[in-house]
Amino acid sequence: MKIAVLKEAAGETRCAAIPETVKKFAGLGAEVAVETGAGEGASIADADFEAAGAKVGSRAEVLKGAGIILAVNGPDPASLNGAEKDALVVGALDPLRQSPNIDAYASAGLQALAMEWMPRITRAQSMDILSSQSNLAGYKAVVDAAAAYGRAFPMMMTAAGTVSPAKVFVMGVGVAGLQAIATAKRLGAQVSATDVRSATKEQIQSLGAKPIFVENVAGIEGEGAGGYATEMSEEYQKAQAELVSSHIAKQDIVITTALIPGRPAPRLITDAQIATLRPGSVVVDLAADAGGNVEGTVAGQNVVKHGVTIIGASNLARTLAADSSALFARNLYNFLSAFWDKEQGRPILPDDDEIVKAIRLTQGGKVVNERLTAA
Ligand code: NAD
Repeated sequence: MKIAVLKEAAGETRCAAIPETVKKFAGLGAEVAVETGAGEGASIADADFEAAGAKVGSRAEVLKGAGIILAVNGPDPASLNGAEKDALVVGALDPLRQSPNIDAYASAGLQALAMEWMPRITRAQSMDILSSQSNLAGYKAVVDAAAAYGRAFPMMMTAAGTVSPAKVFVMGVGVAGLQAIATAKRLGAQVSATDVRSATKEQIQSLGAKPIFVENVAGIEGEGAGGYATEMSEEYQKAQAELVSSHIAKQDIVITTALIPGRPAPRLITDAQIATLRPGSVVVDLAADAGGNVEGTVAGQNVVKHGVTIIGASNLARTLAADSSALFARNLYNFLSAFWDKEQGRPILPDDDEIVKAIRLTQGGKVVNERLTAA
């Protein structure tokens, strides 16, 4: 089995393989070919891949006879000539927004596997690119907030007087939010956090932060279905807005991470609420790419409103390319190796497997995923 690792398009710093996963694939009996310069953005030289046993070459060379194509983002279908018929294309394929590409993978006979549709089940935890990348994004959101904030995070008692600790409020306590809480605590801030799922209350407390929850209207019991939130009732949204208004005015830094699968991000902070923050405060909107939790967010830009900097955080994992590539590459390896058939020397993906059903988009020349065919 030949595995091709593609160089990403401009703007993407990450790489879908690292020398460690190249060696591990070789251990399964596969040969890995890496496109020249694929690791550059993640500080991995071609020579590092070669030292791990990979061949390095042009796209045409690495694709020739490949049965598996690894990428971070969905590659341009027109650039995939030369791969085996029915080759697997594995990466973050963004199926809902890139449907022309998905159709083209199908027409080319390729089997497209969207890693971001990995189900949230225990068996798939080590294959979950959303978790691995969100974790780093949650950390970087706090570091970026600290860099943009004109004051210090920790309390400092100095001969020239005391510096007060920053107050950080995290809205949305999934993978990114939990890491944001932990990072802000490590920097010495006073941290509070909120979510709609009741299970997060204990998680917030276990990190030493203060939970701020709507009490008079029921939220989502426990973890919520599959760990996902749904859109909340109008009554809940009103109660949440009141709670946020009274709490937010006392905060210096707000990090928002709230997402609802398949829907625009819920609006959690209005412009009027931003105006109540002290000038110099910083809001980081990690949901910027999904429309934003904060009124006035512009994805990929910093906007100043009422003296408050609103950071429209877009794909922060890219700014930590060495670590995010390593975790992403291991997610891909963990997935493929879990299905690897040693005798046949290739992964076998059973039609009735929960993971396969969730992530397989195309097969046998057709789009086969229910989430796409039902749309
Ligand atoms: P996510 O990115 O879908 O959403 C981020 C957070 O925003 C969630 O906690 C959600 O409840 C919250 N949110 C949504 N609407 C909100 C609102 N109106 N106000 C406040 N908060 C709101 O979530 P995620 O980071 O992917 O993780 C969610 C859960 O799933 C976590 O408990 C996580 O541990 C679990 N998970 C499990 C696996 C697995 O078992 N393989 C993998 C990933 C995540």
